[in-house]
Amino acid sequence: MILPPATQTALEDAAELFRKARRVVVLTGAGISTPSGIPDFRSEGSGLWSHDEPMEVASLNTFRTAPERFFHWFRPLAGRILRAQPNPAHQALADFEGAGYQETILTQNIDGLHQKAGSKHVVEIHGTLRTLTCIQCYKQLPSKDFLNAFIENGAIPLCLNCNGILKPDVILFGEQLPQAAWQAAQRATRQCDLMLVIGSSLEVLPVAGLPIQALDHGAHLIVINNTATYVNVRADIIITDNVATIIPEIMRRAIHG
Ligand SMILES: [Zn+2]
Repeated sequence: MILPPATQTALEDAAELFRKARRVVVLTGAGISTPSGIPDFRSEGSGLWSHDEPMEVASLNTFRTAPERFFHWFRPLAGRILRAQPNPAHQALADFEGAGYQETILTQNIDGLHQKAGSKHVVEIHGTLRTLTCIQCYKQLPSKDFLNAFIENGAIPLCLNCNGILKPDVILFGEQLPQAAWQAAQRATRQCDLMLVIGSSLEVLPVAGLPIQALDHGAHLIVINNTATYVNVRADIIITDNVATIIPEIMRRAIHG
């Protein structure tokens, strides 16, 4: 592959930071999963969902007052997520951890693709689609069986216990972050000496504040995203390119020198 010289230099510099780091935190957003066919549902005009306003339909309020609207909106997204496979960026991050480096992934994504790729230390800051919780009796269930039926025939998943509606354990707009995950994210951020931001425009609080916390604790910062973020001015390295190409190039250099 032919990369521009400036990108080559940035890749070498990034790999060097990875080789030297003792604790790496990788913060991933929707941009790492778009090459796997999952559109960024938060950004406007992303095809399938452009006729609905995600902030409104994917909110806790809509789920409570009109769950069928939420599920109607969510159905094509859930289908995409269940069929999606990790791309070379997910794989490269799993390979880096597999090579013996201390790496924690903090992800804003609910697609489980880091785990599918083999990453072990993954904190799902915005929740997960792998489980559902009953809004009446709080029983938690694995989502796989329910989701397949839901995607095929649109049946709203109901609790086997009490017939209450099962809510995917994903964090909706207007909902608090899962406390344990958020604390784990902050702890990892304070302890890391290198943070890599991938595919997040860092516009959603409080996650957007994590890179600043890392910098304030003396960590290096690398940002790989297709648009500028507010922390770019403080980043050591900024790469604006396809993540599925760039991440494997960095990790290959970091692991093999
Ligand atoms: Zn129930």
